[in-house]
Order: sequence, then C-alpha cells, then structure tokens
Amino acid sequence: MKKCLIFDADDTLWENNIYFERAIEEFLELILPIAPKRECVLGVLNEVEKESIPLWGYGSRNFINSLVETFRRLYGEHDGAGYLSAIEQIGERLLNHPMDIIPGVSSTLESLRERYRLMLFTKGDVEEQSSKVDRSGLKGHFDCIEITEEKTTDAYHELVQRHILDRDFTFMVGNSPRSDVLPALRAGLWAVFVPHPHTWDLEHEEVEPHPRLLVAQSLRDLPSLLAELFPPQD
Ligand SMILES: [Mg+2]
Repeated sequence: MKKCLIFDADDTLWENNIYFERAIEEFLELILPIAPKRECVLGVLNEVEKESIPLWGYGSRNFINSLVETFRRLYGEHDGAGYLSAIEQIGERLLNHPMDIIPGVSSTLESLRERYRLMLFTKGDVEEQSSKVDRSGLKGHFDCIEITEEKTTDAYHELVQRHILDRDFTFMVGNSPRSDVLPALRAGLWAVFVPHPHTWDLEHEEVEPHPRLLVAQSLRDLPSLLAELFPPQD
C-alpha cells in the first residue's frame, strides 16, 4: 500500500489569510471616524467571530457578516447605509481574491505523486473551498479531495476509516497547529508542520515535540524529509 500524504489547503498550498488581513485593514480604515481605537475594533470583531463561527461556520461570507455585526455593535442605532455598502465592497474584493499558489507547491506535489497517495483535506464552506480548489489548478495532483466543517480529531479518525488509511504511514501536512498538526497527532497519524507567518490567530496553539511530528520550513523540503524517514528501496 502506498504511503499517504494529506494536505491542508489554505496557507499551506495557497495564500489565504493575507486576504482576510487585508479586508480587516480596509475595515479598520473605513470605520476610523466612528471607532478610532484599533484594538477595540479588533476585540469586538474577535468576540463576534467566536460567537458566529460555531453557528455559521468559516468562509468569507460569514466573515463579512461578522464585519457588519462588528460595525453595528460599534455604531449603535444610527443609519449606516454608506458604511454597509463599503463593507459589502470589502467583501467582494475578499471573495474574488486571486489564487496565489505558494512557490514550489505544484512541482513538489508533482514529484511526490509517484511514491505517495495524495489527498487534500480542507475545512470551511463547501462551495467556497471547492471553487478555490478548481481555480488553483492543483486538483489533478490529488487522488481525493475532502471538505469538512471543522478538522477535529474525530474528523481525522473518520477520514482514516473512510479511506482505509494506515496510521503508521499517513502524514497530515499543514500550517495550522489547531486544525492540522494537533488533531492529526491525536488521531495517531504523523504530522508535518509547515509554519506560515500569516497564520490566523485562531489557528495558533503550542506545538510540543512529538515522535510523529516533523517540521518543514517549506513544502519543498517535504520530499527529502520523507526520504530520510523512509529511504527509497532500489
Ligand atoms: Mg491552513
């Protein structure tokens, strides 16, 4: 049986969070006249997101709704039609951001395909994530693509069962401690942590050394890391 590599998508294969950061900056600038304190606005936005994600999930559309709700909480009962249409425009730019593939990803996936079964496992809104997979041009590298609401330890257990994966020879590769590294390790898989400097705050968690944890500075390092672990048999 081929060893299996499961890849995260956002901020592992392509840029994602930088576009959210950009949208937040635009929002902060927009509401500067009514809420000049950055930390205060960010605090409210954080609260709103923590309330809304469990109800409505991830995805740009829900994030834009969170911006609207943050604005409402700060602006009170006033009529804010001008602001609301400007928030809608920030949302449009976010929803239509270009697919910015991280350098080296495509060639690395191509070189890994021969020896490994490649899967893509991403969380978020099904329609939005599918559209990104389509637009990325990377779809053809993967044997299978799965989109889930939340990448919990149970979600990994289910993935393993559904695809009859051998935990001793299956690796989760991703940038998020909370969604990729830690739940995969808890599910008994290997994990390859590929840190990304623009990882979203809510994805951060302490990563302790673990016998099944590898760290790669770039996806380009993955073939050699794996080859060290399982030297090719000629
Ligand atoms: Mg990610």
